[in-house]
Amino acid sequence: MSPESDAKDCIFCKIVKGEIPSDIIYQDEAVLVFPDINPATPVHLLVIPKEHIPSLADLDESHMGILDRMVNAAKIAAREKGIAESGYRVCINNGPDAGQVVPHLHMHLLGGRSLGWSH
Ligand code: 5GP
Ligand code: ZN
Repeated sequence: MSPESDAKDCIFCKIVKGEIPSDIIYQDEAVLVFPDINPATPVHLLVIPKEHIPSLADLDESHMGILDRMVNAAKIAAREKGIAESGYRVCINNGPDAGQVVPHLHMHLLGGRSLGWSH
């Protein structure tokens, strides 16, 4: 594991621990939802596991169920932000070609306007 992916230095682990303040939209024992610092859409939230998992590719049998928990949290947060009916997109960037910059698994929840689709 590279130093960047070490939980001790991880920015999202610091948000989980409250060392960096954030506006918590939803949390339960497994996941946390908070606004993206640089929103790409009117509603742009991040859904993360509280456990430090560097990326989607690092999920294994020990993490079974965490993606369900993240999707459940995204649905609740979408309702909370008033975009459950208008619609939203969830996505997970994995690795450099996808543009993953924070090495702590996170799901983007994007909405609040009509979203285009490009690759
Ligand atoms: P990635 O490109 O890794 O999929 O997405 C990382 C996201 O985390 C980016 O959209 C970026 O704006 C967001 N981000 C980076 N640092 C922070 C931070 O300290 N706080 C919050 N709330 N979001 C952050
Ligand atoms: Zn972390």
